[in-house]
Amino acid sequence: MLTGWGRISPSVAELTEPASIESAAELLGSGAAGRGVIPRGLGRSYNNAAQCADGMVISTARLNRIIALDPASGLVACEAGVSLEQLMVAGLPAGWFVPVSPGTRQVTIGGAIAADVHGKNHHVAGSFAGHVRSMDIVLPGGGLRTVTVQTDPSLFWATAGGMGLTGLIVRATVQLKRVATSRVRVDTVRTADIDETMAVLAEHDRAYGYTVAWSDSLARGASLGRSVITSGDFAEPADLPPSDAADPLAFRPRARVGVPSWFPPGMINRSTVALANRAWYRKTPRSRRGELQTIGKFFHPLDGIRNWNRAYGPGGLRQYQYVLPFGGEDAVRRSFELVAAARAPSFVTVLKRFGEQDPGLLSFPMAGWTLALDFPARTPGLDRLLGALDRLVVEAGGRVYLAKDSRVPADVLAEMYPRLEAFRKVRAELDPAGILASDLSRRLGL
Ligand SMILES: Cc1cc2nc3c(=O)[nH]c(=O)nc-3n(C[C@H](O)[C@H](O)[C@H](O)COP(=O)(O)OP(=O)(O)OC[C@H]3O[C@@H](n4cnc5c(N)ncnc54)[C@H](O)[C@@H]3O)c2cc1C
Repeated sequence: MLTGWGRISPSVAELTEPASIESAAELLGSGAAGRGVIPRGLGRSYNNAAQCADGMVISTARLNRIIALDPASGLVACEAGVSLEQLMVAGLPAGWFVPVSPGTRQVTIGGAIAADVHGKNHHVAGSFAGHVRSMDIVLPGGGLRTVTVQTDPSLFWATAGGMGLTGLIVRATVQLKRVATSRVRVDTVRTADIDETMAVLAEHDRAYGYTVAWSDSLARGASLGRSVITSGDFAEPADLPPSDAADPLAFRPRARVGVPSWFPPGMINRSTVALANRAWYRKTPRSRRGELQTIGKFFHPLDGIRNWNRAYGPGGLRQYQYVLPFGGEDAVRRSFELVAAARAPSFVTVLKRFGEQDPGLLSFPMAGWTLALDFPARTPGLDRLLGALDRLVVEAGGRVYLAKDSRVPADVLAEMYPRLEAFRKVRAELDPAGILASDLSRRLGL
């Protein structure tokens, strides 16, 4: 029985964990006797992208070796089950960090490519696939192919963001990013409303490599969209206090605490989220400059609690993330109004600006505003709210993120992804027997 991080749509499949690329190829070659096969990394996509009801799920848990890391160039070759945390542990002592990091480092290289993940630096670095120099893919049917942007752009850009539906990525070579320390020099600004939030984000895009706004989703009226914006860049050794200077690249992922078993289900609700948002906003100074933060604190605050998703109770959580093009600022404002008016408690509400999109046929990011929201799945009226957000997003020319989606209707998705037909065409040629399938792809006809 498998679910994604949101724990909302369980389904039963045969879970296999091949220990070699050869046995992975054999499994995929078998086509699981027509029942469908889908790859799975660390299961951090929010819904059922890495599930295949009644079929086979191929986990990369045992394909997790770093093959070579060149300390001079920062080029790393690894198996697809290697996590971003593993890459940080291996790369940081030599001054190399992952080029793009999502809000958790418990993500595999395969999952990062398949969702073409983005981070707080999308406006300068683009998404993950842009840093992938090559990948080895086991195709439906079992053949192994090495794919680069130069040799096979069509398969490369169908696989980047392709949600596992073009084959099992088994190895990849990725260009890491040079850093001089493992600390981030962070400036924080508290904004009063959505207009100031958008103005500061635009200004900070020009000044910082990483920036993001945590917004108070329940604030209304004159405070609508008030936020705490944190922006930063990796610190230089001279920025570090003497206590840290001896080991400027130190990175020790802490043993993480779990959500205690006595944590009452339903603890994340309208009142607690309103309280937490208010407290978080008020405790932040109007402006703070030059604070040094660890990688964990700056990039992966939610990783501090191991099974954070359980705090939402047995009903689980529903994530929703949209992007809509610049010029759609009214729609961004309207989306905040809709959430606040519905009194829907989104605990983690993140607004950011994306840079240019890459050629990934189903890649999510495009130049514009992206808003991520997460709600307890049992929030009353949630379906209505998310349906209204879908309409707003489509009208503004935007789309929702497949790695988080749990409910967008197939016809609405087709309006959001103009390159969906091109993706289907690549799939039809690559996998005429329809071996690869996930619960997500079946629902949306990907
Ligand atoms: C707390 C949290 C914060 C997050 N923040 C962000 C964020 O800031 N930005 C962002 O972009 N995403 C974010 N995500 C989503 C996450 O980065 C993606 O869903 C990512 O794909 C998860 O990787 P995974 O290894 O867990 O893959 P899984 O969830 O197991 O699988 C995801 C997809 O990748 C496919 N896949 C996995 N491995 C392979 C492979 N070897 N070959 C082919 N396909 C494969 C699966 O079939 C599936 O379609 C966040 C998730 C969480 C839980």
